[in-house]
Amino acid sequence: AAQSNRNPAEHFIKIPNIKFTKLFINGQFVDSVSGKTFETIDPRTEEVITRIAEGGKEDVDLAVKAARDAFDNGPWPRLPGCERRRIMLKFADLIEENTEELAAVDAIDGGKLFHFAKTRDIPSAADTFRYYAGAADKIHGETLKMSRELQAYTLREPIGVVGHITPWNFPAQMFSAKVGPSLAAGCTMVVKPAEQTCLSALFYAHLSKLAGIPDGVINVITGYGHTAGAAISSHMDIDKVSFTGSTAVGRLIMQAAATSNLKPVSLELGGKSPVLIFEDADVDKAGEICVAGSRVFVQEGIYEEFVKKLAEGVKSWVVGDPFDPAVRQGPQVDKKQYERVLSYIEHGKREGATLLAGGKPCDRKGYYIEPTIFADVRDDMIIAKEEIFGPVMSVFRFKTMEEAIKRANATEYGLAAGIVTNDLNIANTVSRSIRAGIVWINCYFAFDRDCPYGGYKMSGFGRDFGMDALDKYLQVKAVATPIYNSPW
Ligand code: NAD
Repeated sequence: AAQSNRNPAEHFIKIPNIKFTKLFINGQFVDSVSGKTFETIDPRTEEVITRIAEGGKEDVDLAVKAARDAFDNGPWPRLPGCERRRIMLKFADLIEENTEELAAVDAIDGGKLFHFAKTRDIPSAADTFRYYAGAADKIHGETLKMSRELQAYTLREPIGVVGHITPWNFPAQMFSAKVGPSLAAGCTMVVKPAEQTCLSALFYAHLSKLAGIPDGVINVITGYGHTAGAAISSHMDIDKVSFTGSTAVGRLIMQAAATSNLKPVSLELGGKSPVLIFEDADVDKAGEICVAGSRVFVQEGIYEEFVKKLAEGVKSWVVGDPFDPAVRQGPQVDKKQYERVLSYIEHGKREGATLLAGGKPCDRKGYYIEPTIFADVRDDMIIAKEEIFGPVMSVFRFKTMEEAIKRANATEYGLAAGIVTNDLNIANTVSRSIRAGIVWINCYFAFDRDCPYGGYKMSGFGRDFGMDALDKYLQVKAVATPIYNSPW
């Protein structure tokens, strides 16, 4: 792959001053009770950006107390939906006004491509708040005639205090996808962003206050998973946990919920998503579509041509500083992830897959890895089975549609899948046969806030985005009464 070694200062506007590094509890930025802080590292340079308050159990307790009080006694759940909508729209506008700074924070803190964050991630987060703002005054139940002379109606009430625990890969989408629907529902919440990418969550907290979201409704606890995160999942006074992250941690979250107060959880977990490319497809187009696929199955008739073009195409894939507009791939988020991805690449080499491109770290400072493609991968190789979550693609060869479906489904995961074909019968059959929460036909990674997203199997349960996400934050209460003033 090409590398860009341009100095980001040449084409970047301003490196933001980091303003928010403390916990956000009850509308105030505060130090942690222990006074502890931790470093957050710039993955471009491996240098410390700043220190952030390290929240622990005591801080989670304070945040839950604030959220509980805001839920039980505060205005937010009691406001007419149109008022919540007005405030959420203001919040969205403030996010949009700060797009450039928020994008820069995610680029420095998480290695996000600045231009992509500026034009896609941050505007999309603002629009997610607008989408759910529009739902805030349209949450209603049903009227039912019961079998006897009784009528019932249902109320859809906010579930209460929600704990949101999120990963590092899409800080803007994660924050808006979790906070947006739960705000619209009238919940109050404690958000624990990933320790690698806390800075933008604190910035959103600041903007939420400016927008007029009452104190205690959104609290942000920065800190580690095994301390702050575990305190949320096992808390006796949190009514629901919405988690996105790895399958291993998802299991811990569910266990903690089970052994504490049986709070419902929703889990958006890992994946090993297949892309199936059929031989009627345009090979160039298929190459563009599959760039983010981790298991790419190619039908034998176009396999050789596809693999050749892929190896050629990846040469123009520029790796470098995320502020450089020419760059298509930034650094890995932190040292741990960097080493993890490199160790999977070593597995691939050792297991005998054909290394088509990449296969090593970039020759520069920062957590940069060459985009790596393995061809002739067998289903039993480690790189075929385990989630890598980095720039590593495995290419497989298949003969028939039936075989491809079977192999694509032969995974414990079921997050997403892609199909590239012009044959409607293949598209329809495969999309109905794949056990995954979303199937993309002739596109890949097509996300939008209107479209529910979530997993089958060990990729979790519950959906983010779309109107489906609202249900996670609502309880249904039935109220029954006799229709006539007569004994029933
Ligand atoms: P992770 O599971 O290590 O961490 C996610 C969050 O959980 C972080 O905030 C972390 O601090 C917290 N956490 C860690 N241990 C915890 C514990 N014991 N109790 C409570 N919280 C704890 O995941 P990651 O490395 O940050 O993110 C990558 C993973 O996320 C990948 O597996 C990826 O597939 C998954 N992911 C899934 C989706 C989806 O929509 N399904 C989206 C993005 C990422």
